[in-house]
Amino acid sequence: MEKCIFCEIAAKRIESQIVYEDEKVVAFKDIHPQAPVHILIIPKKHIAGVTSLEEADNELIGHMVLVTQQLAKDFSVYQCGFRLVVNSGPDAGQAVNHLHLHLLGGRRLKWPPG
Ligand code: AMP
Ligand code: ZN
Repeated sequence: MEKCIFCEIAAKRIESQIVYEDEKVVAFKDIHPQAPVHILIIPKKHIAGVTSLEEADNELIGHMVLVTQQLAKDFSVYQCGFRLVVNSGPDAGQAVNHLHLHLLGGRRLKWPPG
């Protein structure tokens, strides 16, 4: 398999601005932020995307979502609101094949997205 950039970030073999880490997940700032707050939350283990999730990943995906609560507080968007996004496949523009949640906030977000 080609090197996965998010596995490299999780292993700290390439630089990123990590804002949260525990034994299961890492969160870091998106390199091309689409909002004042744009953080990516990834599992440390490689999962290609939402379509690759298995029953055994139930707890992990729940944990990823719960971690966003704390990040929303840390980045002051808990009260004013934020959006969680998972892109899956070409029509959604998934560019990195390692599961990631986008946490976006800090401005009024348009709905529906383009
Ligand atoms: P997606 O289109 O959902 O696959 O999103 C991939 C995201 O990863 C994009 O928002 C990119 O800006 C971001 N990204 C790609 N490489 C890096 C990196 N090295 N560090 C931080 N964010 C990255
Ligand atoms: Zn990976």
